[in-house]
Amino acid sequence: MGRPKIFLDFDDTLFDTKRATLSYFKDKYGIELDPHRWYCGNQFYEIINQQLEKKISADVFWKDFADEFLASVERHKQVEAMPQMVPVVKELAEKYDLYVVTARQEEGKKSMFYLFERDIKGCINFAHFAWARSRKEKEYFSKKDFIQSRWGENVCYMDDNPNEIKEIDPFLPSFLFDPKGFHKETPFKRIESWEEFANKIL
Ligand SMILES: [Mg+2]
Repeated sequence: MGRPKIFLDFDDTLFDTKRATLSYFKDKYGIELDPHRWYCGNQFYEIINQQLEKKISADVFWKDFADEFLASVERHKQVEAMPQMVPVVKELAEKYDLYVVTARQEEGKKSMFYLFERDIKGCINFAHFAWARSRKEKEYFSKKDFIQSRWGENVCYMDDNPNEIKEIDPFLPSFLFDPKGFHKETPFKRIESWEEFANKIL
C-alpha cells in the first residue's frame, strides 16, 4: 500500500500558465484574450475560431496547441509557480503521494516535467493526462475516471475548474482553487491560496 494520495490540477492550480497560454494565442492567431477572465477548455477554441476569417477545425486547433505550446519548454520558461505553491507542495510531498491530473494532452508533457524539475523536483509521484492521441484504447480518459480507478487512501482533490470539482466532489472531498475570486458564488468549498490549503491538509 502506498501513502495517502492527493490529486492536483496543473494549469492555474500548481502553475500560473494563463499568461503563457494567451501569449501563444496572440503570436499564433493575432488574437488577444482578456487575462482577467476565467476560461475553460474548449472556450479557447470557440472564442478564437469565431474571430478567425479562415475557420479551423477543433482537431487542428488542439493539435497545433499541443505541438507548439504544450510541448514547448521555451514557452514555459516564463511560467511561474502559483504563490506559495512550492513550499507547500514540498511539505505535502513528505507525507502524501501527489498525483497531478490534467486536461492537457500527453504529447506536451515535457514542458510540464520541466516545471516540476525546476520548482518541485521529486515531489510529484505521477501525472495523468486526460487526452493522449497515442493512447489507442482510450484517447480521452477523464480526470474523474482516472481518480476513481486509484484505490487506496485518497485524501482530496484541488482544481481551479468548477466543472471538474462537480464531477469529483461526490466521491472525493474536493476544493475549488480560486485565488482571483472568479467563482465566489460557487456551491463548492473554495480555497483562496496555497497557505489556506496547507492549513486544511497538513
Ligand atoms: Mg486548471
